Amino acid sequence: MRKMSVTGRAFRVYNALNRKYFPAVVLRTFFDKLSPFFNLWISAEIVTGLYEGWERDRVFLLVAIALAGNLVIRVMAALLTRAVNTQQRILDDNQAAAFVAQTLSLDYAKLEDPEIRTLRRKIMENACINSYGVVYMRNNFRNAVDGLFDVLLSLLFFGEMLSLASNAGISLLGIILIAGMLLCMAGSFIYTQHSGKKLALSMEKLGDVLLKENRFSNGFDLSGQDVRMYRQMEKVSALQNKLAKDHRRLFKEVNTTRYLLGLPARFLQWLTTLCSYLVVCLYCVLGAFPVGSVIKYTGYLNRFFGGIGNLMHGMESILENEPYLKVYLEYFDLENDMYQGSLAVEKRSDKKYEIEFSNVSFKYPGSEAYALKDVNLSFNVGERLAVVGMNGSGKTTFIKLMCRLYDPSEGEIRMNDFNIRKYDYREYLDLFSVVFQDYKLLSLPLGNNVSSAAVWDAEKAESCLREVGFGERFAEMPKGLDTPLYKNFDDEGVNVSGGEAQKIALARALYKDAPFIILDEPTAALDPIAEAEIYAKFDEIVGDKTAIYISHRLSSCRFCDKIVVFDEGRIVQVGSHEELLCDTDGKYYELWNAQAQYYTDKKEVSGA
Ligand code: ADP
Repeated sequence: MRKMSVTGRAFRVYNALNRKYFPAVVLRTFFDKLSPFFNLWISAEIVTGLYEGWERDRVFLLVAIALAGNLVIRVMAALLTRAVNTQQRILDDNQAAAFVAQTLSLDYAKLEDPEIRTLRRKIMENACINSYGVVYMRNNFRNAVDGLFDVLLSLLFFGEMLSLASNAGISLLGIILIAGMLLCMAGSFIYTQHSGKKLALSMEKLGDVLLKENRFSNGFDLSGQDVRMYRQMEKVSALQNKLAKDHRRLFKEVNTTRYLLGLPARFLQWLTTLCSYLVVCLYCVLGAFPVGSVIKYTGYLNRFFGGIGNLMHGMESILENEPYLKVYLEYFDLENDMYQGSLAVEKRSDKKYEIEFSNVSFKYPGSEAYALKDVNLSFNVGERLAVVGMNGSGKTTFIKLMCRLYDPSEGEIRMNDFNIRKYDYREYLDLFSVVFQDYKLLSLPLGNNVSSAAVWDAEKAESCLREVGFGERFAEMPKGLDTPLYKNFDDEGVNVSGGEAQKIALARALYKDAPFIILDEPTAALDPIAEAEIYAKFDEIVGDKTAIYISHRLSSCRFCDKIVVFDEGRIVQVGSHEELLCDTDGKYYELWNAQAQYYTDKKEVSGA
């Protein structure tokens, strides 16, 4: 029952993506199936006509009907095949679009949740193994409809067969043969059910290897320098060979199992066919059926039994697929649970926004440890705030909470006296220009990347690029702002280095011109000269905005009004560079001294 309801729901959700696909499949299958039935019927009529010595014109008319009927059926089937292929393409596209849309609509916190990542990965991997999921349902729906038409069309002709047979009276042999036929069919069905389970076990092992092969081709960067430098080519090849060998072995095993398990079923099917021939011949000999009917009725009976088998097998496979459909539905049923506020963010020309963290603690979804603990901090418009601390001390998490990518587990963050959850989310996000440590550029034109829009202000975009030191490189861009970045979608795309990409990401933050500018390790990929240039211009770049810099290079934070020191998720110190250096027991002093030997001279170390 549960399997039926999950499958039914999945079918409705999938069908809604393109309502023309399944009707097209049904219609195409009907015409496909019509062909053998029509040919059986017309051939039997022609043979009977010839045997019984009908007039030549009558026989020729039958031949003409046979040719014309075949032509119409074939043309219709070809047209409908084309329609099915077109509709299938549309269905696949809509399905992919729905998946992307659902992913993009999720809250960041949901998207990053390890359980939800696993769910997403499972859907993709299931589809790779054996097209499990919606595609498996679709394919088996086709098989079931195929079988159903065989059964229905045979039944249409059964009436004629039964009424002719009844004219011949009851024959004991006939009854025995019909009972034998039904028994063999039932036996074949029960046996196929039983053997299907054994085959499924063997398929599972093959699926496991297919999954690993898929991970191998997606997960190994074969062009990687490290693979070469550390001479890991042999290991990579050995892994690939092992997977290929396992694949071949299990593939052979599955095929042998399928063949051996199939033998008894085939034997039973053969017995069913034998009985059907004997029954039809018997009634022919008894004079109930015309001679040509031997072809027709044995054909119908075979199609009927074959159809029942396909219908049952299709239905069973559809239901077996239920666990994969469940995962699919689970993903599409995900709803965002972050509170969506409606308070409008005041557009202040003086950019007077004050942010305050009050007793904020946070654990990442699925994690038991606090990434932030009891954070209390406020800062005002125009301030230059530096956030420093060792790796993993909570700096990035602090920013992610401020931008509401996550909500605090405890405590609250307020902006201008209101909890940030109360603000309209989009409007709130508009307040921040952020360059994350793991920023991403898109394989789209440069202008599109800088402006984050399809149409951009060229002058503003160019000036932002110049401000961050991208001017010279920009002059070399073959199509200026229209130059596509990277070659993923365009052969004329331009590859940029890590440092250049970081500058573009900085320009994007400037272009947005939001009241808060947040830079998380903004210069990590820049060379020292480019870094020095950017720092020299920071004041000019940032202007009257509130700026938050996260850096593990303390020397680059000295010019900030306020430095906040994080350690193991807590704020352990707040103050100016000079103030913090005075506390020789403090974390800042420790970090500064650890780095000072690389970046500064002795005078600075002492804080003079
Ligand atoms: P920092 O920016 O100072 O290097 P983070 O804010 O990135 O530190 O990390 C703080 C802590 O939270 C670390 O212990 C880190 O391992 C953990 N953490 C970061 N991101 C995640 C995540 N997505 N899921 C679980 N834990 C995370």
